[in-house]
Amino acid sequence: MPPPVFRFAPSPNGYLHLGHAYSALLNFDLARQTGGRFLLRIEDIDGTRCRPEFEAAIYEDLAWLGISWEMPVRRQSEHFARYREAVEQLSAMGLVYPSFESRAEIARLIAARETGAPWPRDPDGAPLYPGAAKSLPAEERSRLIGQGAPYALRLDMAAVLARANHFTWTEHGEGPEGETGVVSAQPEAWGDVILARKETPTSYHLSVVIDDALQGVTDVVRGRDLFWSTSVHILLQHLLGIPQPVYRHHRLVADASGQKLSKSTKAAGLRELRKQGVPPAGIRRLVGLSD
Ligand code: GLU
Repeated sequence: MPPPVFRFAPSPNGYLHLGHAYSALLNFDLARQTGGRFLLRIEDIDGTRCRPEFEAAIYEDLAWLGISWEMPVRRQSEHFARYREAVEQLSAMGLVYPSFESRAEIARLIAARETGAPWPRDPDGAPLYPGAAKSLPAEERSRLIGQGAPYALRLDMAAVLARANHFTWTEHGEGPEGETGVVSAQPEAWGDVILARKETPTSYHLSVVIDDALQGVTDVVRGRDLFWSTSVHILLQHLLGIPQPVYRHHRLVADASGQKLSKSTKAAGLRELRKQGVPPAGIRRLVGLSD
């Protein structure tokens, strides 16, 4: 049996906090305990929010924690051509369409339809796509694209589910409601999810799935906030014909008031704690890991 492959995949859009430390250390510990490999991946597809100083800080903070990783590090911004190929593969299967509405137009469409019941939202809390771009005639699509209109490429969820509609994954951790073992994916909860945009030829969902496969990741260990994203990931793995890893979604580290940590929660920032003199072993204890 080849060794298991774990990864930590932060986005360099802020400084790492205790939640990241827990995830990185858990992956690193599991790799060591199982004779596995540990990879670091920089998820920097969002050119407007990701910054080189945050990436440099990731390397520094992880090394300070005593974590080491294989080189070279995969940086997603260097692989847009590979993600574009995957979008083309799905397009050739007739499962992708462009939508042209701006955020404001989408909000207007939702307001117009929200008579009585609230408009459905995806597991991240974003409203499902309310538009009708799927039925735009081909000439109209070409005309808009030719004019340089911005667009999002969406997965036609109904078309996907008409081909196959029962997907499961193996969960070694736990979902928000204690889901574990063989979990049934619920991709319909995401609606026609965005796979790529005109200006960014990929999305979190697409690039994470491609990279986990290309890097041979066998065990995805990440925060429970991404539990239901796995539904989309399983679906994309199926459509693209790539292997499915096992998943372990872990608890989230809360701040002193029990709130989920965010990159703006300074108090739990690793740099901040280091400045206060907390040693790496102290960080392990703070996140509930033994020495
Ligand atoms: N880049 C994602 C984040 O920072 C994590 C992706 C993953 O682990 O699947 O939240």
